[in-house]
Amino acid sequence: AKAEIGLVGLGTMGSALALNIADKGHSVAVWNRTHSHTEAFVQEAGPLAERIVPAETHADLVAALAEPRAIILMVPAGAPVDEQIAALRPLLGPDDLIIDAGNANFRDTSRRATDSGGPFLGIGVSGGEEGARHGPSIMGGGERAYWDRVAHILKDIAADYEGTPCATWMGEKGAGHFVKAVHNGIEYADMQMIAETYGILRDGMGMGYDAIADVFAKWNDGPLASYLIEISAKVAAATDARTGEPLLTVIADSAGQKGTGRWTAVEAQHLGAAIPAIEAAVAARNLSAKADMRATGEELFGAGPQPMGPNAPSLDSLEQALMAGKIMCYAQGFAMINAASDEFGWALPLPEIARVWRAGCIIRSAMLNDMADALAEDPARNLLFAPFFADKVRAAAPALREVVIAAQAAGIAVPALASGLAWFDTVRTARGTADMIQGQRDFFGLHGFVRRDTGESGQHGPWAS
Ligand code: NDP
Repeated sequence: AKAEIGLVGLGTMGSALALNIADKGHSVAVWNRTHSHTEAFVQEAGPLAERIVPAETHADLVAALAEPRAIILMVPAGAPVDEQIAALRPLLGPDDLIIDAGNANFRDTSRRATDSGGPFLGIGVSGGEEGARHGPSIMGGGERAYWDRVAHILKDIAADYEGTPCATWMGEKGAGHFVKAVHNGIEYADMQMIAETYGILRDGMGMGYDAIADVFAKWNDGPLASYLIEISAKVAAATDARTGEPLLTVIADSAGQKGTGRWTAVEAQHLGAAIPAIEAAVAARNLSAKADMRATGEELFGAGPQPMGPNAPSLDSLEQALMAGKIMCYAQGFAMINAASDEFGWALPLPEIARVWRAGCIIRSAMLNDMADALAEDPARNLLFAPFFADKVRAAAPALREVVIAAQAAGIAVPALASGLAWFDTVRTARGTADMIQGQRDFFGLHGFVRRDTGESGQHGPWAS
């Protein structure tokens, strides 16, 4: 019998996905650029190998598949994807489907959906290697009919949240990869806010690594319960095998990135969407990579962080602050998704997006179930204004303010938490300060302004006459 689905690219993610597919009872034909890796992969697959068909050439792969064929690509984003499409298309029939499951830029996916020579889907897969092996969160994009053709396999391999598979069709073209990008942007902001809190505990409050691990572990039993808090506790508790020192004293404080968080920030600018917490997180990673600059800065100006002494916030305030900050970065991310629906003619299903993130992915957390309910009430309303979250933020915002003020007074940089607070203060200020900006613009460029009292537009100040 022929295999149900094909897979190209047996790297970290591709091998894990192929094993997951076989584990769920589906037969999968696999091809990898370096064939020896394919052979090694099948050897190590154990009993699952009976549902795995190794292919040495693209033609072998195509011949091994049942029609209409479906082939998942799991290769690095960019040129390798176009190369694989170009190599496979001539061997495929007009109904055969290519599915890019890597971290493509959604604009590339939208292009490929129309000009890659046949049926095409772009699916965002989150959860790292562990997720890919045992259940990732899957965000699909492309023609709905193509999704429906493979949805049964994707739902079988996806993470399960209380009986609901975390695999959802988001919309046409690059919709799936767009949602995955926003997921990664939120991931950056969530990670950054946790790192800032760690900085307050370490530098402001002088806590040891084990004590910090205990704080995160305790928070993981409360409203902050999430994969990222859980692993933060484990990272803080870990020791270096070579020196026996806390692992965090060994890890260089320069964050890596593969670009998906940056894409989210860039797209937000295209869309005119405000996601300052995510932008702050991207900027913080960029600055973290400038270790030499930071060392010179410390020599010139003295070290930033100082002990907070009696101004240190309570652990309860820190927990509340992190929760408020987290709600704000999600509220910003979901608002950006709505802006994209308007711009690209999608109807991105916000409650479904919150649901598909409840399990399998890096940002999975207890809070997402409540977010799905709040978004279902009114997807167009900002998440912050949903009564459930408005109540939470009303209660937690004073703690966020206390924490940001205490950190800033102690010279501890908390860019994501502070930008979350500034965003919150901005969206609850009916009379802002852009009247000054409009006055300036009219002064130097006669751009005109709208009168508050009558609503008339094209008005000018006395400098115009
Ligand atoms: P790896 O580096 O582990 O594997 C890359 C795979 O692609 C290998 O099989 C490699 O083949 C193949 N490959 C590389 N270049 C080419 C090329 N030019 N032509 C054909 N095949 C090529 O990457 P990952 O598995 O980590 O990532 C794959 C995709 O999944 C990426 O888009 C990544 O962004 C995305 N992703 C990764 C996640 C992660 O946590 N790692 C999470 C979610 C998405 P060979 O054996 O010959 O070198």
